[in-house]
Amino acid sequence: MQQPIPYGKQHITEKDLEAVNETLLSDFLTQGPKIAEFEKAFAAYTEAKFAVAVSNGTAALHLCAMALETQEKCNVITTPITFAASANCIRYCGGNVYFADIHPEAYTLDINKVEALIQSKPEGFFSGIIPVDFAGYPVDLRAFRKLADDYGLWIIEDACHAPGGFFVNPDGQKQLCGNGRYANLAIFSFHPVKHIACGEGGMITTNNEMLYQKLLLLRTHGITKDPTLLQESNHGGWYYEMQTLGYNYRLTDFQAALGLSQLNRVDEGLVSRKEIARNYYEAFKDQNFIKGQSGIVDGHAYHLYVIEVEKRKELYDYLRSKNIFCQVHYIPVHQMPYYKKMGYKSGDFPLAEQYYARCLSLPMYPTLTAEEQEYVIKSVFDFYSA
Ligand SMILES: *Cc1c(COP(=O)(O)O)cnc(C)c1O
Repeated sequence: MQQPIPYGKQHITEKDLEAVNETLLSDFLTQGPKIAEFEKAFAAYTEAKFAVAVSNGTAALHLCAMALETQEKCNVITTPITFAASANCIRYCGGNVYFADIHPEAYTLDINKVEALIQSKPEGFFSGIIPVDFAGYPVDLRAFRKLADDYGLWIIEDACHAPGGFFVNPDGQKQLCGNGRYANLAIFSFHPVKHIACGEGGMITTNNEMLYQKLLLLRTHGITKDPTLLQESNHGGWYYEMQTLGYNYRLTDFQAALGLSQLNRVDEGLVSRKEIARNYYEAFKDQNFIKGQSGIVDGHAYHLYVIEVEKRKELYDYLRSKNIFCQVHYIPVHQMPYYKKMGYKSGDFPLAEQYYARCLSLPMYPTLTAEEQEYVIKSVFDFYSA
């Protein structure tokens, strides 16, 4: 019997174990030097000026929404095809979530739909946009920046799926996801199914120093000990100030050590992901049971490889019976009971809903072997030729 094949999986090496062990035996389990080391290396990797490590991707989104002063009167646009957290961060701050439909081939937020939505409301109605580099597909953030500037909006790039992904701007320059050039803030997750595993973990990147300083404060209770930042007179060596209401959203040092060790070989993982994507693409490109697939896109980070098919549920069940555990990304966020209570309903975003009716994420992770991938492909063919 075939060993179970999940849709995504972490890869832990001896080197990772050594790095974690070393930190566990050091003086600092948390608030130690590994955090800054990880942040510096991650900022360098994404080519952003600043990086702030946090406890998970959702905390990263929450802090971004706070740093951009989201509150009850704020209205923010995101895509329905994402993990709920992309939208929820606005609700944490009391703001309102608006969705715009997806592009039917890229599966990411359709910029024309976003612009139409903005124009349908009075001037100044919206505060920001949260585009998602869904599945690893790099959103054209240059275009979104232009739109955002036209209407005075901020951008949080949800780049959880796309470390190492990039698009090319009209000057022919590679623009890495999360590089801080176009988005005010970008966020990443280090959940084990993502490219870099910390267990739980997240990162915010930015080129804006003021936002960076705010995030540092918000990450630890709104408290600072930095003598140069104090608002009152210094009482002595123990003195700290709570200057704003923040949270404990810190990452631990042993998680940072794991993240750092994983970051060292994240590009190898990306090469494997691209190879796996190419194999799927070639196998399925001329098949009539395929209604769409991720395809081959330069700069795609391939967190997921999505196919669109008829009889999706039957295929999903069949593959499970073959010990292949695919996943569906995502149930549209506006169809969640929580968001339905806010007035959203089926039919609101037809392209997202049609995509959801047919999508399936095939196994995609760097240690998926050629034999395992062949078995997955063969099983899909077997199902449709039966
Ligand atoms: C994983 C993910 C998140 C949340 O990250 P966590 O670390 O699980 O909190 C947010 N957005 C997207 C698109 C994700 O895939």
